Amino acid sequence: MTLSGKKIAVLGCGRSGLAAAKLALAKGAGQVTLFDANPAATCPEPGIPLIAGATEADARAYAAELVILSPGIEADIPWTLAFAEAGAPIIGETELGYQYWGGRIIAITGTNGKTTTTALIEHILLHAGRSAKACGNYGYPLCELCLQPEPPEFAVLEVSSFQMETIVDFRPDVGIWLNFAPDHMDRYKRVEDYYHAKCALFRNMSPEQPAIVREGEQVEGLRCRRLGFSSVVSTGQLAYSGTTITEQGKPLIDLAGTALVQAHNAENAMAAILACRCVGIADSAILDALRDFCPPGHRCERVAEQGGILWLNDSKSTNLHSTEAAVRSQTRPIVLLAGGKDKGLDYSAINPMLRDKARCCIVFGQIAAQLESTFSPVCRTIRCETVPQAVAAAAEAAQPGDVVLFSPGTSSFDQFSGYVQRGQCFRDAVHALLNDQQA
Ligand code: ADP
Repeated sequence: MTLSGKKIAVLGCGRSGLAAAKLALAKGAGQVTLFDANPAATCPEPGIPLIAGATEADARAYAAELVILSPGIEADIPWTLAFAEAGAPIIGETELGYQYWGGRIIAITGTNGKTTTTALIEHILLHAGRSAKACGNYGYPLCELCLQPEPPEFAVLEVSSFQMETIVDFRPDVGIWLNFAPDHMDRYKRVEDYYHAKCALFRNMSPEQPAIVREGEQVEGLRCRRLGFSSVVSTGQLAYSGTTITEQGKPLIDLAGTALVQAHNAENAMAAILACRCVGIADSAILDALRDFCPPGHRCERVAEQGGILWLNDSKSTNLHSTEAAVRSQTRPIVLLAGGKDKGLDYSAINPMLRDKARCCIVFGQIAAQLESTFSPVCRTIRCETVPQAVAAAAEAAQPGDVVLFSPGTSSFDQFSGYVQRGQCFRDAVHALLNDQQA
């Protein structure tokens, strides 16, 4: 791809858009302008012009020759399409970064577990003495990595379906498919659209390249060398038995005592092991690194244990699939705290598990009434308004030996700025309550 002399529109002036604009300029673009629909948007780089509050008329008037999209902006909305009306191609920030990236790429997709697996693979590579950076959807744009004076050997790239919608040549060295379940139905019209966007990760890979795919998952059009893993079945390269990852029936590593012992994290670990082997990392270094890895916060994170009750913060659970994984991974009776924004999901799929494993469900937020009518036929259900009220109700309901699992199962935007604020609210409420109990 040549950018030389081109007139480029970069849509969205967040971190990804800014990195894309800087990379385009560094690679010889003739003119680069940032556009943002938000009238309050600002650009920290004085050298790059920004049109804040840009309209479709502004888009047409600019007459871009190439449109580069930030991951948060949809490719098929009229505002975006107005920039491309005269025939300019639209690519995403990931594709632009790919065009100028000289190192290797391990790309990770899935409905859940992307961030944990991305962080884990970076941790293993660094532990093995290789240079690597977790990036992509994980907060560090690939274009920014391309601009580093000494880029690392590996980009460990977390990719969302949104980023895959706008690729052209993008081709990772290793691709990982962790799992798939309906999500983002507020953005996609059909589940199939979300699925096909994710499948694009493997589209340009060749048959000899490795695709690490959870057993039982269908990936449309997959032509690569498939390596499988699962905590449920033992048909793949790696399986999980008790707390041990096994290979051809033989123990590879016992995860007891590590932060990856829960079944869903064991799957992330298996995917990471296979990926790191594919790029030549020795098992000794991989297994060593697994032992001291700690997943990022708000993912089945231990907040406290008092009076025989364990409190877990899984605020990052923003869909039913992750709540299902968290519930399945528990070995104690569960007091489940779930609720938040209405994303149009149906929660009845976890009812059989709740009947078996939950002492009680405490529901809160915008979907509290919906969850109450879904869960109450199979389990005692208490409806609250807020997270602190739900924590107080959990303290009443839980008995010694139980786990209180805060795994909301939907996004937080009805009451919070995001999952981090929601998880912090849960942590604070738990600590306040336990301090009161001790006093
Ligand atoms: P993502 O980046 O895909 O959102 P995270 O690693 O941030 O994934 O985890 C998101 C949620 O999914 C958390 O609630 C976490 O406990 C759960 N989770 C992590 N790994 C898996 C997995 N392999 N399968 C199902 N749920 C998972």
